[in-house]
Amino acid sequence: MSNAIMPIYAPAPVSPVRGEGAWLIESDGTRWLDCIGGVATTALGHCHPALVGALTDQAAQLWHVSNALRIPGQQALAAKLTAACFADVAFFCNSGTEAVEAAIKTARRYHSTRGAPERIDVIGFHGSFHGRTYAAINAAGNAAYLEGLGPALPGYLHLAIDDHDGLAAAAARGTTAAVIVEPVQGEGGARALVDADLVRIRRVCDANGILLIHDEVQSGMGRTGRLFAHQWVEGASPDIMAIAKALGGGFPVGACLATHAAASGMTVAAHGSTFGGNPLAMAVAGAAFDVISDPETLAHARAVAIRLRDGLGDLVGDVVTEVRGKGLLIGLKLAPNNRAFIAAARDHHLLLSGCGDNCARILPPLTLGFDEADIIVDRVAATIACHAFAEAA
Ligand code: PLP
Repeated sequence: MSNAIMPIYAPAPVSPVRGEGAWLIESDGTRWLDCIGGVATTALGHCHPALVGALTDQAAQLWHVSNALRIPGQQALAAKLTAACFADVAFFCNSGTEAVEAAIKTARRYHSTRGAPERIDVIGFHGSFHGRTYAAINAAGNAAYLEGLGPALPGYLHLAIDDHDGLAAAAARGTTAAVIVEPVQGEGGARALVDADLVRIRRVCDANGILLIHDEVQSGMGRTGRLFAHQWVEGASPDIMAIAKALGGGFPVGACLATHAAASGMTVAAHGSTFGGNPLAMAVAGAAFDVISDPETLAHARAVAIRLRDGLGDLVGDVVTEVRGKGLLIGLKLAPNNRAFIAAARDHHLLLSGCGDNCARILPPLTLGFDEADIIVDRVAATIACHAFAEAA
């Protein structure tokens, strides 16, 4: 059969037809321990009963109406999200990159509607990832994602996280609209920013009238053991935040959250989306929010993350040289090629996700059992011990 899919992905030779919690099952019954988790999306595992119930109930009632009409589920989810963080208002979309796009537009419009249209610059950081739309690839500034797409857009600057002087100088130029940062970098290599850097960035923004955008598309919705990763840090809250991935537990939905002040430029017709926030997405995301934000779910996520990290930490050596990230956003820094390691892990029916800086990511559901955490550790150990890596080490 010819392949009619644009060849932009290189999928692993695994074809799941069913999911149960942390497990994926192929048609012949082969079971895989899923630490890709839809790339940090299926935070409640596969087919969580609360999500299946919300989806099927809503599917029998109403799927989609567009934002030309009122959608009560949006009001309900926006109220829950804003009550749980710094934000006052939400805009719903369908993906992480759209949430980032909305965040950048929100920041630029804030300044332009306050009489400062020259403030368009967005400062991003090396190693970041914000998605694949033009604003997102320009904000992240990773040359690989810009390749073949013409010139980089004006209005984007990139700095190293520890370039304190560079940030202070760029912030003082008077043309900066926003700083965008992932509190825990995901795709770039599972790197948790140190608390002091998050606080310093907040202070630089405050001192210069700049809006702070947190991209919590990957780190948010319980992944680090708090609802949002920045909530671990006192004095680091953003003005605008992009979320997606686990927001729908596997159903496509994203959101841009903001304070009233930061969103003041987002007036009628300033932005929009046909599908964003439709009744089906709101029903599933509402159910996902209720389970993820339950203190018991978050406490379990923290406890199982400690168990997993302790076990993985014991494996650090010549092959896995470091365990990094935060909570259940775990990166294994590897000496051998990460693609080869991930392929070898499949020999042990363990699915890992690749990311930058030659890391493999472990992104299990927040509901992972302690016994399952131990199985992950055993399978990583078996992968490390496999012939090719043992010889190389
Ligand atoms: N921002 C971050 C931090 C991400 O990790 C991702 C996806 O991996 C995105 C944005 C883009 O999200 P999406 O693929 O849903 O557009």
